[in-house]
Amino acid sequence: MYKKKQVALPKSNIKKYQLVKGMKDIVPEEQPFWSFVKDQVEKIAGEYSYQKIDTPVLESTNLFVRSVGEDTDIVTKEMYSFIDQGGENVTMRPEGTASIVRAYNEHGMVNLPQPVKFFYFGPMFRYDKPQSGRYRQFYQFGFEALGEAEPIIDAQQIFLGYKIFQSCGLNVSTQINSIGCSECRPVYQNLLIDYFKNIKSHLCDDCKKRMTKNPLRILDCKEKKCQELLVNLPQTVDNLCDNCRNHFVRVLEYLDELEVPYILNARIVRGLDYYTRTTFEFWANEEEEGRQNALGGGGRYDKLVELLGGRSTPAVGFAVGVERLITKMHDNDFAPPKSPAPDVFLAQLGNEARKRSLKLFEELKKAGFKAAESFAKNGIKPQLELANRLGVKYSLILGQKEILDKTILIRDMDGGIQEIINFEKIIPELEKRLGKRGENQPS
Ligand code: AMP
Repeated sequence: MYKKKQVALPKSNIKKYQLVKGMKDIVPEEQPFWSFVKDQVEKIAGEYSYQKIDTPVLESTNLFVRSVGEDTDIVTKEMYSFIDQGGENVTMRPEGTASIVRAYNEHGMVNLPQPVKFFYFGPMFRYDKPQSGRYRQFYQFGFEALGEAEPIIDAQQIFLGYKIFQSCGLNVSTQINSIGCSECRPVYQNLLIDYFKNIKSHLCDDCKKRMTKNPLRILDCKEKKCQELLVNLPQTVDNLCDNCRNHFVRVLEYLDELEVPYILNARIVRGLDYYTRTTFEFWANEEEEGRQNALGGGGRYDKLVELLGGRSTPAVGFAVGVERLITKMHDNDFAPPKSPAPDVFLAQLGNEARKRSLKLFEELKKAGFKAAESFAKNGIKPQLELANRLGVKYSLILGQKEILDKTILIRDMDGGIQEIINFEKIIPELEKRLGKRGENQPS
C-alpha cells in the first residue's frame, strides 16, 4: 500500500518523471490511427454479428494459471500478479480469451443460441523484456466464437482477420497448422521427442525441460539456437487422427473458397495450453520468421470452456496486437483518412467580444457547423494563424466595434476578403456559403 512520505523534498530533488519501462503513451497525433483501427474492427464485427464485450483488467490469478497453462512463459515469467488489500491473488490480464470464457460461463451464455460471438479491444499486460514491438502494456483486439465445432467458423474467422488487415492497408501472410486433439497429439509429441533426442544438448535450458513436459512448445521457443534446429521437423498435419485431419482439410478448403492465401507451417503451435486443432498466425512478412513478426494469432480451444467450469463447448478465436499493426501501417505509409477541417473559426478581440463569442460558438455548433476557436488568445493575428493551420474556409471576427454595430466580419481564408455582415445573419450567411447543416448535429 502507498504510504505518504512526511518529509518535504528539497527543490533540487524534484525529478522529471518518465514512463514506466515497457509502457507507451498514445499521443494525439497517433490517435487517428487508433480510431481508424477501432472503426475497422467494429465495422467488420458488425458485418459478421460479433458483439462487443468488455471484461475487467483484473482477474483472479488462477484463471490464467488454469487456462493459459502453468508451464507457459506467460504464467511463469510474465504476469503482473499481486495480492490485493483483501488478500486475493489477482492478475492484470495478459490476454483476452480466458476472461471471455469466464464471462461466458458466469453469465450462463451456454443457454443462448450458439455460437455466441464476441469481440473485444483493450489493454493487456505482460512483464516481458521490452524491445521494438514488445511492450509491457499493449492493446489487443480479438474475436471469439463459442459453441460451434464446424471448421467453417475457423475459416471465416481467419478471413475476417485477413479483411481487417487489408482494410488497414496490410497484406498479411496467414500461417496455419493443426495441433490435433488429445488422441493424436501424443503420437506427434513422441515423434518430436525422437527428433530432438540426438540434438537435445543444443537446445536452450527451457527447451530441455520442455522435452519431457511439453515438447510441442519447443517449436514456439524464442531462442534463435532452438529455432535453427527446427528445419527438418516432422509435420503435425501428417500425423493427425482422421477427425482432426478431416477438420483441417475442410478449414483449408473454405479458405481456398474465400481466396485467402495461407502457408502450412508446422511451427505454429501457439504457446498456450488451451489450443486444439486449428492454430494460425498473421505475419507481416512471410520470409522474416520470429515472434515480433506476428501481428496476431489464434486457434481452436475446444476444451477451455469445460476446463474453466462450464459445459463442454467448442470454440475458436484470435487476437491481434494493435501497436504492431499500427507500426506496420506507418511502415507502409498507410494514413487513415483525415477528419475534415472545421467549417469556421471564431476569432475575438476584447473582453466584451470574448464573452459574446462563448454563446455564438454554441449557436454555431447547434446549427450543425464544425467550429473552432482559441478564446484564450488575445491578438487577432495568432488566432487567424491558427485558423489557417486548421485549414478552415471562413473565420468570423468579432471585435469591440462589431459589438457596438451589432455586426461581425466574415473572412474568406483563401483570398483574405472580409465582409461585414449583420450579427443576426451569421447562421444564414454561413449556410449560404457552406450549405445548410442539419439542426442539432453533433459537432
Ligand atoms: P499472442 O497471443 O501472444 O500471440 O499475442 C497476439 C498478438 O498480440 C501478437 O501477435 C502481437 O501482435 C501482440 N503482442 C503480444 N505480446 C505483445 C507485447 N508484449 N507487446 C506488443 N504486442 C504484443
